[in-house]
Amino acid sequence: MTFVRTVLGDIDPGAMGVTYAHEHLVIDGGRPVEMSADFLLADVDRLADELRAAAAVGLQTAIDAMPADCGRNPVKLAELSRRSGVHVVAATGLHHVKFYGAWHWSLRASEDELADLFVADIDEGIDERDYGGPIVRRTAIRAGIVKVGGSEGGPSDRDRPIFRAAAATHQRTGVPVHTHCEAGTGALEQVRLLVDAGVPASRITLSHVDKVVDRGYHRDLLGTGAFAVYDQAFRWRDRDNGTLQLLEWMAEDGVLGQVMLGMDAARQGYYAAFGGQPGLPYLLGEFSAAMQARGLDASIRRRLFVDNPSRAFAFAEVDR
Ligand SMILES: [Zn+2]
Repeated sequence: MTFVRTVLGDIDPGAMGVTYAHEHLVIDGGRPVEMSADFLLADVDRLADELRAAAAVGLQTAIDAMPADCGRNPVKLAELSRRSGVHVVAATGLHHVKFYGAWHWSLRASEDELADLFVADIDEGIDERDYGGPIVRRTAIRAGIVKVGGSEGGPSDRDRPIFRAAAATHQRTGVPVHTHCEAGTGALEQVRLLVDAGVPASRITLSHVDKVVDRGYHRDLLGTGAFAVYDQAFRWRDRDNGTLQLLEWMAEDGVLGQVMLGMDAARQGYYAAFGGQPGLPYLLGEFSAAMQARGLDASIRRRLFVDNPSRAFAFAEVDR
């Protein structure tokens, strides 16, 4: 029996309902916040307000995409889920290299050591100290995705062992593999590496790819059988909305069964509860209206928000 692993326990994939597929609900310090104070998302009261506002317009599940040692806080994620009633899936794995710097411990760990750390977050519980140091104290809050960050154009020498460790983690636990595509690029190279390392393409979800508004690229990456997460919808300002354009093209190409939506709203400046905009409800309000106006109707939106995530984020069956 397959399941989705949330911070409050395992649920039936059919219970996910309306899902945002790449979020940052909590960033509790770490290098991202050193880079920009706007990344700090640590105030649980305000974040719970934001999440409740999204729940009020239909949000039921959020996939949190913050992996190890860059501000992840499993206790706060669980608290937010409890207060808002929204299912939250937490991540293990490692982010893009820019969030760690050149001397991070992950660069000196072997693939097997990395896989052991990822598997422990999934099987036992996420480290309360977020793998920020050698003293690990596991919570009972378990990770439901392994997230890895790839470099522009595809996995770099630094990224490859980390991607292979994620693949090993998938094989040991059945966990879905979620990736960061830097500048939206490198998705095909990521899928090739992960598939070669034993992950079925249907267990891979590729984030940020709608930064690249190229119909052929998207046709090719969905042609692999992987899922795409379009999480740039509110970022086009005065340009034509590339996310909408891609959704239209993928509808015409008959591949919307592999596309999901997310906000990737990793800054206070994007959250109404911190005085920012557009706020977490955006995809279910303004953007859903924009989709409707372009012929992407309620049945299509149901696939993007409900049907596709329930397949993409379910654990695969494994013999253990
Ligand atoms: Zn992100």
